[in-house]
Amino acid sequence: MGERDKKVQFGAWIGIIGNLMLAVIKGITGIAADSRALVADALHSASDVVSSIAVLVGVRAAQQPPDDDHPYGHGKAETVTAIIVAVLLFVVGFEIAVGAVQSMFTELSVPGVWALYAIVFSIVLKEMMFRYKLFLGKKYHSEALKADAWHHRSDVFSSVAVLIGVGAALGGAALNIPGAVYMDPAASIVVAFLILRMGWKLGSEAVHISLDHVLHEEETTSLWRKAEEINGVMQVDELLARELGHYVIVDIKVSVDPLITVEEGHAIGKKVKQELMTFTFVEDVRVHINPYSEEE
Ligand SMILES: [Zn+2]
Repeated sequence: MGERDKKVQFGAWIGIIGNLMLAVIKGITGIAADSRALVADALHSASDVVSSIAVLVGVRAAQQPPDDDHPYGHGKAETVTAIIVAVLLFVVGFEIAVGAVQSMFTELSVPGVWALYAIVFSIVLKEMMFRYKLFLGKKYHSEALKADAWHHRSDVFSSVAVLIGVGAALGGAALNIPGAVYMDPAASIVVAFLILRMGWKLGSEAVHISLDHVLHEEETTSLWRKAEEINGVMQVDELLARELGHYVIVDIKVSVDPLITVEEGHAIGKKVKQELMTFTFVEDVRVHINPYSEEE
């Protein structure tokens, strides 16, 4: 493993360990301090741990080389894990929201003041994780790390919502404002919404890819141009890049001089495959040769 891969993996583990720690601290404090919002935020951190681990497992499974049963490779393993995690996020988000609404019809107690300490700690740690991972992502040009970093930043907002909810419940109780205690479950609904949104984003993208989505025209122009430049290719008739997780399989139809030999045509096809395989995101290329004709 190279220096860059090591650093990128290190960044991923920092996220997992940091979130695990936060889930435990906020979970225990949330239960002890009787704060629904803090418990919801702990569940959010726990969901982040589960989805990060699922991503690691999915990426590893997707790297398996093609075999007899899976000639197109295992790229969709990544998509399958994403769908499983999305379903999990929906369940967690829904549970929190329902629990919060139900609690509003019961007698609520004012959350303990330690809930505030835990949430401030969470905000500070998350902001540090955001800055560190953004720094790593920029330094090593890793889109995955940068995306991860921005997720930490969105977690900061989730925790700020909790801070406002718990703070309002505590402050309201101190000032004898009736109903202020309901700000705590109200904040947990905000957290639930953020978890549901995360599930929706992840799930809709994974479903999109799993339905044999092909790259859009503007994403394939570089492939198209490369094929057109090859000696003997008179015209590219069709180019489809099917997305399978993190790579694509290209189906290309090219027109060649109808009077050349089969062997020459085959050589051109081979060259097309070779050239397109130089793109790192291309896993395989299937070439179909057409005889060139004026009318088409
Ligand atoms: Zn999160």
